[in-house]
Amino acid sequence: MKFEVTVLGSSSATPIYTRHPTAQVLNIRERFFLIDCGEGTQLQMMRYKIKMQRISHIFISHLHGDHYLGLMGLISTMHLQGRTSELHLYGQQELMDIIELQLRLSNTILRYNLIFHPVRHYVSTLILEDEDLQVKSIVLNHRIPCTGFLFREKAKPRKLLMNKMQQYNIPFNFFNRIKNGENYEDDNGNIIMNEELTMPSLPPRSYAFCSDTIYDESIINDVRAVDMLYHESTFSHDMLDRARATFHTTSLQAAELAKKAEVKKLIIGHFSARYKNLSPLLMEARTVFPNTELALEGLKYAVE
Ligand SMILES: [Zn+2]
Ligand SMILES: [Zn+2]
Repeated sequence: MKFEVTVLGSSSATPIYTRHPTAQVLNIRERFFLIDCGEGTQLQMMRYKIKMQRISHIFISHLHGDHYLGLMGLISTMHLQGRTSELHLYGQQELMDIIELQLRLSNTILRYNLIFHPVRHYVSTLILEDEDLQVKSIVLNHRIPCTGFLFREKAKPRKLLMNKMQQYNIPFNFFNRIKNGENYEDDNGNIIMNEELTMPSLPPRSYAFCSDTIYDESIINDVRAVDMLYHESTFSHDMLDRARATFHTTSLQAAELAKKAEVKKLIIGHFSARYKNLSPLLMEARTVFPNTELALEGLKYAVE
């Protein structure tokens, strides 16, 4: 079952060198989540064959234009194409103020239900939970309020070995208890251990998206040991002063954070317009954290 990220935008601030501002689509078992929605996101979805009407949830990190200026266009196109299924939107309260203003001034009444969930920027919170998944906000440290998002699958119960159920004549009404870890006692009082009757299901997978932020070790606790971390890496380390002044991170710092948080894999993105060639950023990060990749548009990154 898929758990993968498609990068639609990897540029900071402005579109340049065919790079677009930030947007990513997360496919978790054929459920589609959009994270940030920079200008051009609709066109990028068409280019990379992402079906926009299948997106059920949108998460916006902050209100710098390179992270949300594509959102009004997307909401509008969903409406014009006849969407009826509800759309959940997560972001700071002011995001909804902007959307409501635009809808009101264009006299648009959406055909679908747009359900807004305000996200507080100063405290990590559980913002979405269902039977399969948890999403938490991550407090970031940027020039304006900004949050990241942590997506984590829920642990599944152990899988029954059906041949063992037959071998020991285990009645159907015991199955759930055995899935949840109990041993089985047969009519003669013999105990059959759970490990013999079941196998572990796949471990839950996790992905953390850290949008714009200065290097801040208080993020480490929130992203510790995730399978894949996306962290912005706007500059190379020779631009550290500029990174600090603009509340951004260097690729070396992103790698240090990934190492300290003991994540499995790091994706760096949000590249400054000053870099046409991105390989120096990648090389720099890999000196500290070898399992680093560049966020390249159109590529899919499996979380495993
Ligand atoms: Zn940005
Ligand atoms: Zn920003």
